[in-house]
Amino acid sequence: MSTRLQAANVHFNEAGTPVADSFDDVYFSNDSGCDETLHVFINGNDLTERWLTWQAPHFVIGETGFGTGLNCLIAMQAFKQFRASHPDHPLKQLYIVSTEKFPIAVEDLKRALAVFPAVAEEVNALVSLYPPALPGCHRLDFTAWHTCVDLWMGDVHELLPQWHCPLNGLIDAWFLDGFAPSKNPDMWTDALFGQMARLSKTGATFATFTAAGIVKRGLKEAGFAIVKRKGFGRKRDMLTGYLATAPARRVTTPWHYRYPATPATTREHIAIIGAGLAGSTLALALCQRGIKVSLFGHGSAPADGASGNRQGGFYPQLQADQSNPALIQAHGFLYAKRHYDGLTARELSFTYDNCGVLLLGFSEEVTKRQQNLLAKALWPEQLIHPVSADEACAISGIDIHNEALFVPAGGWLCPAEVVGAQLTAARQTGLLQEFYDSRLSLTSHQDTVVLSNHEKDIAADRIVIAAGHECTEFEQLAHLPLRPVRGQVEAIPTQQPLNQLTTVLCHKGYLTPGWQGRHALGSTYVKGDTDTTVRETETGQNLATHAKALADYDWAHSISHDNTARASVRLGSADHQPIVGSVINPATTTARYRELYKGKHVSQYEVALEDQKVLVMTALGSRGLTTAPLMAEILASQLCHQPLPMSETLLQALAPERFMLRTFKRPPEETE
Ligand code: SAM
Repeated sequence: MSTRLQAANVHFNEAGTPVADSFDDVYFSNDSGCDETLHVFINGNDLTERWLTWQAPHFVIGETGFGTGLNCLIAMQAFKQFRASHPDHPLKQLYIVSTEKFPIAVEDLKRALAVFPAVAEEVNALVSLYPPALPGCHRLDFTAWHTCVDLWMGDVHELLPQWHCPLNGLIDAWFLDGFAPSKNPDMWTDALFGQMARLSKTGATFATFTAAGIVKRGLKEAGFAIVKRKGFGRKRDMLTGYLATAPARRVTTPWHYRYPATPATTREHIAIIGAGLAGSTLALALCQRGIKVSLFGHGSAPADGASGNRQGGFYPQLQADQSNPALIQAHGFLYAKRHYDGLTARELSFTYDNCGVLLLGFSEEVTKRQQNLLAKALWPEQLIHPVSADEACAISGIDIHNEALFVPAGGWLCPAEVVGAQLTAARQTGLLQEFYDSRLSLTSHQDTVVLSNHEKDIAADRIVIAAGHECTEFEQLAHLPLRPVRGQVEAIPTQQPLNQLTTVLCHKGYLTPGWQGRHALGSTYVKGDTDTTVRETETGQNLATHAKALADYDWAHSISHDNTARASVRLGSADHQPIVGSVINPATTTARYRELYKGKHVSQYEVALEDQKVLVMTALGSRGLTTAPLMAEILASQLCHQPLPMSETLLQALAPERFMLRTFKRPPEETE
């Protein structure tokens, strides 16, 4: 999927209401946007009454047309009030899953919402989290409102089919917004109503400001019962209703179904093997959902493996096209940035230098690749933009004579301190137990898997293996193409002119600004080598890589080094993408799907419904700082039957079963 989003063209009318030029229609009523939202969407879906009697731990609103976000902000304000009035109520969390094809500029959004002082606090929170215009899902955590907003950018017709849906549906209430059907006929189609039905739980409600016949008939046809109500202000009617007839099929790819047979609840206890970036991020994501976690680390303290490096560069690895890997990186990075900023706002301290990352055009080939990326212009400016050599000098503080790409939101972090901060946050929930120096074994007996530590069995409802390269030691993962790679990073004593460096420099290797008198310079990449002793030969390689890439930079040839370095082993996968999801017995996958190449109709396949006792979150390679937070969100949301913050296509690119399914999609003679 390579799409450039078109920004909204907005002007403000005499009443101060934003108007979309392309549709010649207002974002909300001139009379009062807030009152309209309350009347049409909140009351039209009977939200406050329904929340009172709701028994599930979360409620999901789906929306077409995020616009200025006003509907979302009012819904989350109402939810905050509900939680404050009913602290012991079983309903704890609100999800709002919204779509937007023409994202509004943040300045327009601020101006549009400035006239509603009643939601000033909510507006500030939205402005601070508002993402750049990148197609796909942006998960925004409004923790103080107990609300998570998944803002999906793109056309609703392309996005809704990409929402991964539980067997019994995802959405509890729809805000069917969008400009008037007469002004935006492309949106109000049977395909849209059909997708709404696919995603709705039976009994899910909808509300819309319009009473147009085409909407009424379309929704009825899709299985919704229609109830006309009094419209807002001068409007005579509006439509509400509920899904009366469940759709024949909700799951489009039964072999990639992600949700467990029964959702994880707050009575559950999950064991996580691995106390690095993956394990600690997941522990926090689960504890925040009220789930008890036991975290097992192999070493005497957390982050003793690949997550123990002093300084880790933080930036996405993009390509000219919005390929699956590049989108995983971009969304991983943007989510991680919000996640680290959120930890910082909670005063959980870790070393985090928001200094940006310069990707030097250090060779003709790299410059060509960078120019190609710029020519396609698919990535938002806030994510990556070009800088001249002079600008690169000003940004970096040292003499640079190459053009470069700059990632302004990037920088470097101390991964071990990030792990520490995440574990502190998880401990604050009172739900985390930690065990170090663990000698774990995982034995399978028919359908059960037993986890033992020092020969003592550990009672856990589920086990997540997040053990970096030690994942290769678990027979339950033997069918996965896991690739350990050794990497040595030098800790260079600070010196002229590196002591002036104020940004991360990337070329074939990378170099960070100084911290505690040293710079990280890396890294080697030795496939299949799991030895972690520091090697002089690799120090030589690291220095030579820098000298070669920066051939005409004098300082790069005279870096003095005192042989301080660290080597560790990262884990990658055969296709270089993370592996995140439940581990299905390969015999089961084979029995169900080995004839996938025959292309039978999806309805002929069993949904991959599993208890999900063993899961995996690994193969983050050297990119754990960028990808771990979003991967943890996916796994935790999956376990709790919550909306997933990623498109079906990208979820499939992360699924543990993808490697087996790829072979089953080819006729046997091709795979032999
Ligand atoms: N709910 C919004 C609010 O609270 O500000 C107002 C929504 S405004 C009336 C309609 C929104 O739908 C616009 O932001 C528009 O860009 C968006 N939209 C229109 N067609 C769309 C489509 N095909 N897919 C996704 N969004 C669309």
